[in-house]
Amino acid sequence: MGLGDITRPAVLAAIREYDKLGQDAFLERYKFDKAKAFYLRYDGNRYVSKAIAGAAHGYLEGREPLRANEFSGGESTVARKLRSLGFIVPPRRSPNWTRDEVILACDLVMENGWRQLEDTDIRVIELSGILQLLPIHPHALRSDTFRNPNGVARKTADIASRRPGYTGLPTNGGEMDQQVLQDFLDAPEHMHSVAALLREAALAGEFKQLPVPQSEEDDDEQDEPGAREGRLLKRWHYARERDRGLRTRKINAFFKENGRVFCEVCEFDFEKVYGPRGEKFAECHHIVPLHVSGETSTVPEDMIVLCSNCHRMIHRKSPWLTPDELRALVEANCADTR
Ligand SMILES: [Zn+2]
Ligand SMILES: [Zn+2]
Repeated sequence: MGLGDITRPAVLAAIREYDKLGQDAFLERYKFDKAKAFYLRYDGNRYVSKAIAGAAHGYLEGREPLRANEFSGGESTVARKLRSLGFIVPPRRSPNWTRDEVILACDLVMENGWRQLEDTDIRVIELSGILQLLPIHPHALRSDTFRNPNGVARKTADIASRRPGYTGLPTNGGEMDQQVLQDFLDAPEHMHSVAALLREAALAGEFKQLPVPQSEEDDDEQDEPGAREGRLLKRWHYARERDRGLRTRKINAFFKENGRVFCEVCEFDFEKVYGPRGEKFAECHHIVPLHVSGETSTVPEDMIVLCSNCHRMIHRKSPWLTPDELRALVEANCADTR
């Protein structure tokens, strides 16, 4: 007996009772308080999650409601249990800033002469809106204050206080801030163009087609320190390469010109090796570098035809190789083994 037994119907029954009695009477009845509460969000309303869990237990066959001192509330107990039943319980803390998000904030700080910005600044308010649009953090893991102007302004202070030459004490901020700041100091124009493209694409709704990872662990690609473009532009790039219509147009154009389809780096021909099963098969790779591919409509001329192996090798590490660089690698290594 305990928290582990509660079911979704029992929670829904407790929610109905909470609605009927009103928050104060419900908390009074089950003897819970609101102190440091985690809230359950349901149908546009907020509920003290621990009280809901305690009451839900009483809705189980032959059970009594749990009292506040019989179990502990919080992130690893009640919040986790309710989430596993499909409910939304936002964490109290916002998730850590990812590389893409820090790039956007750092760009703002740079534009502002490396000084922090206030939460009333229109640019901070705009960035807050953009960060909320990005498909980076699952909605279920966003706190109520997720990337609000206050949090964005604090991030600009963290970044500004880490810049060389800053004379005050550094504020919080972590390793990610430091890495991104260093990238901005090393390659300001490149980083600015990455930030500009991220912003533009977010506002144009370009990232809408990208799924939001379901949990932070699901997002298996790590924030590679050497990957200056960050993750979103990469995910966007891959999505465009997988676009069926675009790929078909490219392969048809290539076939028309060459009479067959083969890898433009190693000349592998799927049809030659696999017969009819490999007919007109190849992958397409987008050759415009990520940070300059602001153009949202890709044309066949922006792509080249590759076999699956060559394509994988181009993307295996950051920075991605150009087709010429990969060709040089293939030639050098084949010469070695000859
Ligand atoms: Zn190849
Ligand atoms: Zn590619």
